[in-house]
Amino acid sequence: MLATLKEVLEIANQRGTAIPHFNIDNIAGIEAVMEAADTENYPVILSIGQGAINAGNLWYLADAVQRAANDSKVPVVLHLDHGVSYEQTVVCLRAGFTSVMYDGSHHPFEENVRESLAVIRSAHAVGVSVECELGAIGGVEDGMSHDHLNLVDVGEVERFCAQVNCDALAIGIGNAHGLYKGTPHFDFDRLTACRKLDTPPLVLHGGSGTPDEMLRKAIELGIRKINVATELRMAYMEGLEASVGQRDFYKMCKQAKDNITAVARQKIRLFQGL
Ligand SMILES: [Zn+2]
Repeated sequence: MLATLKEVLEIANQRGTAIPHFNIDNIAGIEAVMEAADTENYPVILSIGQGAINAGNLWYLADAVQRAANDSKVPVVLHLDHGVSYEQTVVCLRAGFTSVMYDGSHHPFEENVRESLAVIRSAHAVGVSVECELGAIGGVEDGMSHDHLNLVDVGEVERFCAQVNCDALAIGIGNAHGLYKGTPHFDFDRLTACRKLDTPPLVLHGGSGTPDEMLRKAIELGIRKINVATELRMAYMEGLEASVGQRDFYKMCKQAKDNITAVARQKIRLFQGL
C-alpha cells in the first residue's frame, strides 16, 4: 500500500529501526526491491532521483511505483530524491508522490529555510511528506559532485528545525554519496548532539559501501532512514556483466534483478538489527 514518509518513519521510531530508501531507475529495480520488501515484510521507500528524471522517466516510474505499492501489503513510499526546485516538487505532487525531498543545502541558510517552507506549505496541503537537508552531503549524486566533506552545524540544525516543520531532516556527519575511498568516518558525537534537539526524524544519505557496524551504530543513535543507491546500481551492472557471455537476454535481466533483490534484502534485515 502507498504510505507517506512520515508514516513509515513513525513505524521506525516505534521499533528503533531504520527504513531503507532505495533509488530505482527502471521497472526491474522496482520489481526487485518490492520482492525484497514483500519477502521481509518491511516498509520500503522507492525513490526517484535526478538521474532517472534526467533520463525522462519521472512520470513513467511514478506510475509503476504506485502500481507496485497497490499490489503489496507493506507500506511503500513514493519519494523524490534531492528535489532541485520548488517547481520540481510541485510536478511530483501532481504525479502522485507521497513524499518529496527538497535539497536546499547548497543555498545560503535563509534561502534554504524560505524555499523549504514553500515546498512544505504546498506538500502538506495535499498530505505529502517533506524531507529537507542541512550540511550538503559530499560525493557524487547523479552526476552532481561535491568534493568537500560537509559536517552539519549543530546550531544550524536547531535554528532550522525551530523554523521549518519538515517531516525528516538529512544531515551530513561525514557520510558521502557513491562509494567511499577507504573507510568512511562518521561523526557520531555530532549525531548525538543533533538528537538532543527538537528535530524531526534524522536521515542518512550515502549508505552504500558503509560497514554494517557503522550503520548499526547510526540506527542505535537515532537515524531512521538510510539511503542506498550506488550499491543497487553496482549489483545490477555486475549481474548483467556476469551473464553477458550467455547471450540470453532474459537470463541477463533476471540475474541483474536478482542481484538487486539480494542487496535490498540484506539492507532491510540490517536496518532492522537482524
Ligand atoms: Zn542523497
